[in-house]
Amino acid sequence: MSALIVTSKINEHRLWKTLMELAEIGASPNKEEGVTRLSLTKEELEAKQYIIQLMKDIGLEVRMDAVGNVIGKLLGTDPLASSVMVGSHTDTVFHGGRFDGSLGVLGAIEAVRTIKEANMKLKHSIEVVSFTDEEGSRFGTGYIGSKAMAGVLKEETFELKDKSGVSYREAFLHAKLDPTKYKEAIRKPEEIKAYIEMHIEQAKVLEESDLSVGIVTDIQGPVWLDVTLVGDADHAGATPMTMRKDASIAMAEVMIEVEKIAQCHGGVGTVGYVKVEPGGVNIIPGKASFTIDLRHVNKMERSKMVKEIYQSVSKSCEKRMIEWHIDVKKEVDPTSCSPDIVKSLEEACIHLNFPVKKLQCGAGHDSLIMSEITEMGMIFVRSKDGMSHNPKEWSSREDCADGTALLFQSLIKLAK
Ligand SMILES: [Zn+2]
Repeated sequence: MSALIVTSKINEHRLWKTLMELAEIGASPNKEEGVTRLSLTKEELEAKQYIIQLMKDIGLEVRMDAVGNVIGKLLGTDPLASSVMVGSHTDTVFHGGRFDGSLGVLGAIEAVRTIKEANMKLKHSIEVVSFTDEEGSRFGTGYIGSKAMAGVLKEETFELKDKSGVSYREAFLHAKLDPTKYKEAIRKPEEIKAYIEMHIEQAKVLEESDLSVGIVTDIQGPVWLDVTLVGDADHAGATPMTMRKDASIAMAEVMIEVEKIAQCHGGVGTVGYVKVEPGGVNIIPGKASFTIDLRHVNKMERSKMVKEIYQSVSKSCEKRMIEWHIDVKKEVDPTSCSPDIVKSLEEACIHLNFPVKKLQCGAGHDSLIMSEITEMGMIFVRSKDGMSHNPKEWSSREDCADGTALLFQSLIKLAK
């Protein structure tokens, strides 16, 4: 077996060709506008057909499950053994790039193709998966395919509507999927030995360390808060400073606190959306609405951050006699990657003469959801300027091949 591992190399040019071909699906005629493949649109379904064809070409057993996850299976020698799952997603954000998600799916296909070409016999089957709607850009909630597989998809998801009023239920029917059968996509923990995902880094840690690949140890979990502050809209000239209930000032105070709280706990905090109403140059804002995104790799620390945000909102609003309300829109627990998989990736790096670099993951991925039912690991590939969700997203041909070589080695270890 080890002789095969040493002599089998990833076909860098073939991998690159598939990355560029997939990037043509949903590509804007104006290159600066990147690639748009929103969930269950014509473009995303066409991308899935492309993936299905690639999987068939290399002789995988291919199926689409009840929520449209594309799954290609390389059969292991023991039909009763659990599967090693590997993959990512092929949907993109609006005006996205060519590598986010695509690299994980196409790299997995290339790794499995290399295993087949080397005629390796592995005990466990390997299932390559392209998940449905990781990004959530069309209906406002993501990880649909992985949530369905992990058995945590909620029925009310199908009531969500996109900007043109099409419901998730209708989008499912349009894609020839039956929304009432989503539970058929559930996989039992005993069926899956591990899930491994390669993804572009979306930050600059690898670039600044001058390394092509890294091993993820922890994934931060986000909490999303919708904050509404209600004071009094009043005349900007006639109302003395001491008699105002200015919601925007209370919001500004909280925004500064978000930065302080995140820094103090070693997490991250972002106010990404703000709105003041009524919104006029000569009107004191009576209402301020804003979002807060808080993340940390440690759930306890993140809970402290959330608690301090509530205290900060309450304090600012109390002294200004402003009413406040906070809605928790999303709460995903942070998680750690499997120590066994991290260790095996370290060994694979040493085998490939790659320096071992461990790092944390700030963004959410299908892997976060899959960790609810199986051991999970992640490989990061350097992305230029840490750019993602952007047409300028870029990982070099060599770096994509390095990540895929590492994925290949870890698949062999996991499936042998
Ligand atoms: Zn992604």
